[in-house]
Amino acid sequence: MQRWNGWGDERIEKPLPKQAETLLEQLVGPGTPPVNVSLEKMLGNVPEANLPEPSGNISTAARDRFEHAHGQSMPDWVAMRFGTLKRFPDAVAYPTSESEVEDVFTFADKQKMIVIPYGGGTSVVGHLDVPETDAPVLSLSLERLNGLIEFDHHNRLATFGAGVKGPDLEAALRANGYTLGHYPQSYDYSTLGGWVVTRSSGQQSLYYGRIEEMFASGTALTPRGKIEFPPYPASAAGPDLRQILLGSEGRMGVLTRATVRIKRIPEKDDVYGVFFPTWEAAVHAVRELVAADLPLSMIRTSNPNETYTNLFLAGHETQIDLLKRYLRMRGLYDAVFCMTLIGFIGPSRQVAAGKQQARRIIRKYKGVTVGKSMGDAWKKNRFLAPYLRNTLWDKGYAVDTLETATTWNKVTPTMKAIESAIANALEEYGETVHVFTHLSHVYSSGSSIYTTYLFRIADTPEETMERWRKIKASASREIVRAGGTISHQHGVGTDHRQYLAAEKGELGIDMLKNIFSHIDPQQRMNPGKLIE
Ligand SMILES: Cc1cc2nc3c(=O)[nH]c(=O)nc-3n(C[C@H](O)[C@H](O)[C@H](O)COP(=O)(O)OP(=O)(O)OC[C@H]3O[C@@H](n4cnc5c(N)ncnc54)[C@H](O)[C@@H]3O)c2cc1C
Repeated sequence: MQRWNGWGDERIEKPLPKQAETLLEQLVGPGTPPVNVSLEKMLGNVPEANLPEPSGNISTAARDRFEHAHGQSMPDWVAMRFGTLKRFPDAVAYPTSESEVEDVFTFADKQKMIVIPYGGGTSVVGHLDVPETDAPVLSLSLERLNGLIEFDHHNRLATFGAGVKGPDLEAALRANGYTLGHYPQSYDYSTLGGWVVTRSSGQQSLYYGRIEEMFASGTALTPRGKIEFPPYPASAAGPDLRQILLGSEGRMGVLTRATVRIKRIPEKDDVYGVFFPTWEAAVHAVRELVAADLPLSMIRTSNPNETYTNLFLAGHETQIDLLKRYLRMRGLYDAVFCMTLIGFIGPSRQVAAGKQQARRIIRKYKGVTVGKSMGDAWKKNRFLAPYLRNTLWDKGYAVDTLETATTWNKVTPTMKAIESAIANALEEYGETVHVFTHLSHVYSSGSSIYTTYLFRIADTPEETMERWRKIKASASREIVRAGGTISHQHGVGTDHRQYLAAEKGELGIDMLKNIFSHIDPQQRMNPGKLIE
């Protein structure tokens, strides 16, 4: 059963080791466990639906409406935990076929409803916020459009209902010896349709690519009719319309089915741990590793703060001492340690040759390889880290992340600017923010920068939100100032909307507005997300 007011399966707990709690107290001060509102109280806040009694697959039950009223952003968490969620869809539709989606559109049109497509509800940037409006709001859940529709081994394509979640999609492909290889950390709950329209990126994107490289074709139902995107392997026939759907965040209509490019399950898919003695060494090594065109699936390198924080949060502080001793034996006396995970993938012989070449680059930068066990542990726990957010909240700490991408020459200054903006954002309240960063999606021209920050929850939802807004705004302004994109993988939603013009330009924003108002003249599809 999914947690109603937090992340993931309610049977899974990730306790915080005692030493980690002590460390947090030292870093940001003792947390005060907040009082969580009960589900009963929360459902009591759901008002009467602004809709005549609907029929068929449309529900007006309070629980359905609450569950579809939020995602997983910090404002969503504050509203869920303090019980301040204000706006709920009036109904939730659960179509089971494309023709039922068409019926839902007809119904919504008749009732003049706003329609918000809902995939897995894992958005972290306010994609699912119910707008302030007098019009009734319908959440259109893709939950029941979730099957394998066609497996095309010959063309290496597979078509799924857009509501399929990560584990179901992979299970269907793996049963046939194939994989998509798209593993966002939200994999257990996010959906193929959600990935496409938010331009998602999975943990092994270095080999498998981002979702935009995997998404071959699909069907979208829009307020103006159906759009079919054909699965050409490539095309020079003018602008690629798929690129407008990718990242459209529900503004263009509903993606009902998607065809993806699939790959054979690789012979080798291993992850190794390496420690670099300085951040600069780690970044140089990573850049050279990517440029060497090795059979890599991923590189994830943590800065010293993240290295220590992660080892502590995982209860591995004794390992830090062992590691220090081991690294000293290898001649690294003043090391600060940047934990780096390097994934090798592909045929065994290619991987063996790639590893040899990688070893030379790692040695050049005084990196110390600690073997596959660290990589195996990461693989085992790769989707569990978000469970810590539940535990930390209950101890009085809020955790959030933000991310950008930029070219190599700007990676370190941008990371430092973001971290410093976040660390100082709550000075006026006398509060400290703990902040740490890793690079996880690397390209020959640059890298994503993924920053996590932790701060104390205040006594009231208003003050907690005020703290979060200060941090988020300071960091976002730094990202824009440094010339990074406002999002590498989470999308725009409502939280990043005001920063979008900085990278698209006024003309670009105008183009997007015109596209959306052409396809959705009544402005009924997820209004207010991505652009005003
Ligand atoms: C713990 C955690 C870890 C995460 N890790 C990653 C990560 O590693 N990489 C990454 O890229 N993202 C990550 N995310 C962000 C999030 O999972 C992605 O943005 C994901 O793609 C959202 O998919 P979803 O199915 O949950 O969509 P939802 O959250 O339900 O919706 C997101 C947006 O897409 C629209 N939408 C959804 N389905 C459709 C459809 N079929 N047709 C039209 N519009 C649709 C919605 O209207 C909304 O605007 C993470 C989130 C969490 C909470």
